[in-house]
Amino acid sequence: MEVTQPLVHTLGRSLMQRYGKRLRRVMLDLGLTCPNRDGSTGYGGCIYCDLAGSGTGAAQRQEDLDTQWAVGLKRARRTNPQGAAAILYFQSYSNTYPELAPLAAALDHIRQWADVAPILAIGTRPDCFSEEAAHLLAQQLPYFDEVWIEFGLESADDAIQKAIGRHDTLENFYLACARAQKHGLHRIAHCIAGLPGEQENGLGKQVREVIRAQCEGIKFHQLMVLRKTKLAKMWMDGQVELLTAEAYIQQVANALEILPPEILVHRLVAEAAAEEYLAPKPWPGRQKVHSAIELELQSRGSFQGKFASIQ
Ligand code: SF4
Repeated sequence: MEVTQPLVHTLGRSLMQRYGKRLRRVMLDLGLTCPNRDGSTGYGGCIYCDLAGSGTGAAQRQEDLDTQWAVGLKRARRTNPQGAAAILYFQSYSNTYPELAPLAAALDHIRQWADVAPILAIGTRPDCFSEEAAHLLAQQLPYFDEVWIEFGLESADDAIQKAIGRHDTLENFYLACARAQKHGLHRIAHCIAGLPGEQENGLGKQVREVIRAQCEGIKFHQLMVLRKTKLAKMWMDGQVELLTAEAYIQQVANALEILPPEILVHRLVAEAAAEEYLAPKPWPGRQKVHSAIELELQSRGSFQGKFASIQ
């Protein structure tokens, strides 16, 4: 019997093969900050970042980790109470900044959930990932099957990083990835398509840098306009042009063709809460975008990694 290869090597499929069930993210929020908000590198954050630091806002609502875990696990298991295991995911702000003590205390606490949540994931900025931070996360490796560190790349062009108020650099991304690798941590890169000033091949450029930095995973994300962001004002003033869903699907398909199959795709498209979301509209749901990307690859006779060896 012929075994068909998937067109896209998704994290979900890989975890299903490995664990025999779905693993869903349980979001944990420490309510920290980011050097791009407190004035160390900038004030007010990246143009697209909302007040919750791209997270759940649970810490602002005074929810402790036990509450966040209980709520998150219930949501993760909503369709199958016996089924899904979890990924403990610290997403919001920069979780290794301004000091490591809150994260260290949280890690001591959450280890008790490792039998249900065999993977730990931490989001931070490359310029906030010190040797001490890497060491702290490496100390979690005996408790979890894998420890992921998620770095925002967002653009391979430092001038765009500056223009969007992000103030990090490609060099920092490399240094952080090398440091994580040295400590046995998995590296996931977060990429955005459609930032102001980004060329049509901007996503492809990011993918090439992700390959060079030897990341194990990647997330693709369209530029979204959320309420209470600098981008919302720019968009209302007509200063930014957003990608259509069709253009985004083409850009991701192009990027996937050069992405080696061993790099897992953790996300093909981003979503936001309806009450926060302004644009682009219309925008199809997540599953429709997934299907459209796969259909696009199919129509090209292509797949993830088709051109990976000829970059
Ligand atoms: S680096 Fe992350 S947390 Fe900081 S302002 Fe930008 S998006 Fe928000």
